[in-house]
Amino acid sequence: MLKVPEDINGLFYFTRRTIGGGRVIAWAKKRECPSCHKALMGKPRGKDGKVMIRAKYYECPECGFRMDKKEYEEGLTAEIVYTCPYCGFEGEAVIPFRRKNIKGVQTLRFVCGKCGRPIDITKKMKEPKK
Ligand SMILES: [Zn+2]
Ligand SMILES: [Zn+2]
Repeated sequence: MLKVPEDINGLFYFTRRTIGGGRVIAWAKKRECPSCHKALMGKPRGKDGKVMIRAKYYECPECGFRMDKKEYEEGLTAEIVYTCPYCGFEGEAVIPFRRKNIKGVQTLRFVCGKCGRPIDITKKMKEPKK
């Protein structure tokens, strides 16, 4: 049984959606540092303590281990709890967190475990440019 995280700290991604007559809660946890296993990796912080959003790598706050942005993000796992909008099935899915560009929209697609139809979680809005 997947447990919906109560605290978004430690999460890379979290969304809660209504899709048609269905419902989806999806999240991806930040990855643990593969070097020291003591902390979750995140975007590095600058000297002012602010997270450097545009950094091209992720860093372990404990040991300073770095991982390329692409490599880090491709290794994330999405956990999904859903009610299928097509058949009403209540299920769970664990899939690689890979968003595909479908009709110009970043989409995380998974398949209902009962009826086999694809369910799309699309990006809600453009992320603000900083
Ligand atoms: Zn580390
Ligand atoms: Zn279904």
